[in-house]
Amino acid sequence: METLRADVVVVGLGAFGSAALWRLAARGVNVIGIERQGIGHPFGSSHGTTRLFRVACMEHPGLTPIARKSVELWTSLSERTGEVYVRQTGSLNVGAPDSHPVSGARRAAAAAGASTTDLSHDELASRFPQYDLAAEDVAVWDPGAGICYAEPTVRAHVAEAQKLGATVYPHTMVTGIDVESGHVTVQTPTIAVQAEQVVVCGGAWLGKLVPGLPLSPRRTPLFWFQPKDAGSEAFRLANFPAFIWEFPDGRGLWGHGSDEDFLVKVGLDGAQRDRGVDPDELDRYIHPRKDIAELSAAVAGHFPELDPEPVKVIPCMVTDSPDGQFLVGRRDERLVIAGGDSGHGFKHCAGVGELLAQITTKETPYTDVSFVDPLRY
Ligand SMILES: Cc1cc2nc3c(=O)[nH]c(=O)nc-3n(C[C@H](O)[C@H](O)[C@H](O)COP(=O)(O)OP(=O)(O)OC[C@H]3O[C@@H](n4cnc5c(N)ncnc54)[C@H](O)[C@@H]3O)c2cc1C
Repeated sequence: METLRADVVVVGLGAFGSAALWRLAARGVNVIGIERQGIGHPFGSSHGTTRLFRVACMEHPGLTPIARKSVELWTSLSERTGEVYVRQTGSLNVGAPDSHPVSGARRAAAAAGASTTDLSHDELASRFPQYDLAAEDVAVWDPGAGICYAEPTVRAHVAEAQKLGATVYPHTMVTGIDVESGHVTVQTPTIAVQAEQVVVCGGAWLGKLVPGLPLSPRRTPLFWFQPKDAGSEAFRLANFPAFIWEFPDGRGLWGHGSDEDFLVKVGLDGAQRDRGVDPDELDRYIHPRKDIAELSAAVAGHFPELDPEPVKVIPCMVTDSPDGQFLVGRRDERLVIAGGDSGHGFKHCAGVGELLAQITTKETPYTDVSFVDPLRY
């Protein structure tokens, strides 16, 4: 078997790994990327057309600089490729004033100096009549938010990395990562790579590739809907921007309106099933009762003009960490990791890729990363 040499190997070229490959190649690092599937494939966590993009991130105020870095990097990439990776059409965080989306967005905006606008219940109801609101519902409008494109972004990260000199091995499964004193060896059935450092971005498989991490993959299908009135403009993206809405029982809905190239996307937050799955044994069938009934009931109850039967459903996975934050950083001298996306990682992937490149090359990170440090566990 051939043994290749590189400065850095990136294992897993999904959202985080493709971005790390690009940002390392942009620094002139001799980098090899290895991915077990094709680039931009539908078997991990980074497929299904779009993801929500937010700046005032309710999950942690420290995420705002990472989202901003993603916009900066994607904008510069767009200038070179002519493709669009993020559309900042704004988004609504809806719920009671003390709900996580509303209070979390306010906290993040205040901490990071992001401009947001509070909408009272009456303003929300008159501007967005699609919502069947509870009496206490208000909203925070995040004008820098919107949607980002999933598979094209992953492909563009990898293509740009290759232009900058990275070598990529798709359809190549990493079977072992041996960290030794002078180097690290990444094993596959066809090649071995000896490098100074390895960056492991295995998504739902990260816990298998790097044992001992407190990660729990969750089966989380993606769903698309249509309005009952097919000619209605009410659920177009321009009229029905990205949103996250928490109900009094702690569950909630998130999604965005349709456009030329995608349907109305709506998902359910807070469902307790399908946690702790083995990604190699993922049930990829869609079960009408188990997968659809609860979401359909929530859609019918909260967006009465949407047809509650989804018109498209595909399987996907989220990988939860115990505190809902990512694990991004150094595990030891030769091993850097990124994962534990907890369902909100895509919007940050370019910014995380930049952090991974900075951590690997021992530059000072552009923002505080202590809240995502893997050594916190
Ligand atoms: C239903 C759903 C909705 C979501 N909504 C949003 C949203 O609105 N906004 C948002 O920001 N985020 C959202 N997310 C989260 C976001 O999609 C993830 O944070 C992101 O895609 C995770 O990227 P990743 O690089 O960790 O994983 P992946 O993209 O899955 O990449 C991991 C890669 O590692 C590869 N790999 C694994 N094992 C090996 C091996 N042995 N050898 C080689 N390669 C290997 C895999 O094939 C895969 O390509 C959502 C996720 C889901 C499932």
